[in-house]
Amino acid sequence: MLEKVGIPSPKQRMLEFPHLLSGGMRQRVMIAMALACRPDILICDEPSTALDVTVQAQILDLMRELQAETGMSIIFITHDLGVVAEMCDQVVVMYAGKVVEQADIFELFDHPSHPYTQGLLASMPSMIGAPKSLLPTIDGSVPALNQMPCGCRFVTRCQYAQDLCHQKQPDLQLVILNQSVISKQSVISKQPPDLNQAAVSEQTSKKVPDIHLVSCHYWEQLIPKKDGAIMEKTHD
Ligand code: SF4
Repeated sequence: MLEKVGIPSPKQRMLEFPHLLSGGMRQRVMIAMALACRPDILICDEPSTALDVTVQAQILDLMRELQAETGMSIIFITHDLGVVAEMCDQVVVMYAGKVVEQADIFELFDHPSHPYTQGLLASMPSMIGAPKSLLPTIDGSVPALNQMPCGCRFVTRCQYAQDLCHQKQPDLQLVILNQSVISKQSVISKQPPDLNQAAVSEQTSKKVPDIHLVSCHYWEQLIPKKDGAIMEKTHD
């Protein structure tokens, strides 16, 4: 297993102390230990942070291989949207301890509906954009646990915040969109739906494309349209 995760001379390394290994090697040993247990569910918390891209690719390939072989599920906890795009089927975006958006990987990348998700995606470098242009950032920082805003937890950093956002925490709502995205079929249940049943709402008998949940009072205005336009900022 050490060999599989890219540790050179694995037999010799087995006899060495941890302090003789580099940070990246120690991380790979931890991954090997977890994989060696053949778990049903593997929880990976930033598993590739200290690894260079080549080793990262090897580790991700190995995980995919073992997943296909054993049928285990993998939960990735990561800020690396490249890894998310590469590895995940379903994505849950969390901010300050709350789920703000959940969707199928393609749906999330195609139609991010929460301002935090939109900010995360916008901050990714692109091969297409103008070279040497500054990447967008999300102003401010995550509030301390003992100073959470009483309304939406993202309110102090959200450029679209309005009065209601300061007063009321948004529910997690079911977004049901037509494939064209521009025309919305019907929305919304106040409660998170039963995911097994896909919350096929009684409001619509049409096909529900994918489960897409978002926690924002104004998500309808924030879904990017074909021309990229979303609702106007309320302040700078
Ligand atoms: S509820 Fe308001 S503050 Fe929270 S993400 Fe939506 S627009 Fe922004």
